[in-house]
Amino acid sequence: MSSETDATDTSLPAPKIQLSPQQWRARLDPAEYAVLREAGTERPFTGEYTDTTTEGVYSCRACGAELFRSTEKFESHCGWPSFFDPAASDAVLLREDNSLGMRRVEVLCANCHSHLGHVFEGEGYPTPTDKRYCINSISLRLQPVSGPAE
Ligand SMILES: [Zn+2]
Repeated sequence: MSSETDATDTSLPAPKIQLSPQQWRARLDPAEYAVLREAGTERPFTGEYTDTTTEGVYSCRACGAELFRSTEKFESHCGWPSFFDPAASDAVLLREDNSLGMRRVEVLCANCHSHLGHVFEGEGYPTPTDKRYCINSISLRLQPVSGPAE
């Protein structure tokens, strides 16, 4: 019910990590660059984490910031990894996206402003938030929960 999640504010806080397009291209492969830095979308049901249930933390593939946890991932059957909440509310930024003739809410990494996907609300999924953070696998890197150190 909070209006805080409305993505009407286009004046985003500055990213902590700011690189030039050339620097991003050196860090990312072309497919990663197309999604993370050019707001592309991977084809549905092709991403490596679509149906992953491994326990762990999903970090931004561009900058490594922690974004989502496996405990907030759910099976949406939409073709992309889906989460009902980010790991921390300030881990991602939301921005209104009116591209492709649709009114959507874009999800960005708060740390580096890379494109992650979109968030949809009120679709009726049986999750605590009824939100679906529909995130490209290629924007994420899963770090599985590891055993005790040593
Ligand atoms: Zn990032």
